[in-house]
Amino acid sequence: MIIKYDQNGLVPAIIQDATTKNVLMLGYMNEESYQKTLETKKVTFFSRSKQRLWTKGEESGNFLELVDIKNDCDKDTLLVRANPVGPICHTGTDTCWHEENTPNYGFFSTLEYVIAERVANKDTSKSYVASLFSKGINKVAQKVGEEAVETVIEAMDNNDELFLYESADLLFHYLMLLQAKGFTLKDIEKELKGRHK
Ligand code: AMP
Ligand code: ZN
Ligand code: ZN
Ligand code: ZN
Repeated sequence: MIIKYDQNGLVPAIIQDATTKNVLMLGYMNEESYQKTLETKKVTFFSRSKQRLWTKGEESGNFLELVDIKNDCDKDTLLVRANPVGPICHTGTDTCWHEENTPNYGFFSTLEYVIAERVANKDTSKSYVASLFSKGINKVAQKVGEEAVETVIEAMDNNDELFLYESADLLFHYLMLLQAKGFTLKDIEKELKGRHK
């Protein structure tokens, strides 16, 4: 891979969690640390403060297990995808920006957040979510059942448009039920991953 190092022989390396896609930290590599990273599969930097090779985790044990490395458009910035063994910042937080390295389900995470916000605000006159929640958990569960049946009907009717519509209804109401039961998509991921082995 062609890498454009700067005048000090260094290239910035953005470290991204290969699974959650969160950015964990930024470090600098020289040619030797880049080669060592490829050989050992443990992300290794050139530490500007220590002025030596530094394998992330060499003291703490919180290694970054290498997945892959990509170069950017003009070859002067690396994107290193890795799986962290533990918290990556030396202050003890998951990322160097004091963020939790939690899974992110994109727009579905946004919806989870919106549902939680509507429920907390309890504005039943303005919010469908708030008003359904106010009727109790059994009503939410019942709605999931109804939407599931509608989804099944449209699946058997071979009507793709209505099938998609009812599927969206089902997923949305299911997110509400998860929340009403005190769970999140993260709990479902954990359960499914546990079965995956
Ligand atoms: P470690 O590589 O985790 O064994 O940590 C060794 C030392 O490297 C720490 O004591 C810090 O000085 C430094 N260090 C560790 N993690 C980071 C980080 N994410 N950013 C900057 N410095 C770090
Ligand atoms: Zn660039
Ligand atoms: Zn840090
Ligand atoms: Zn429906």
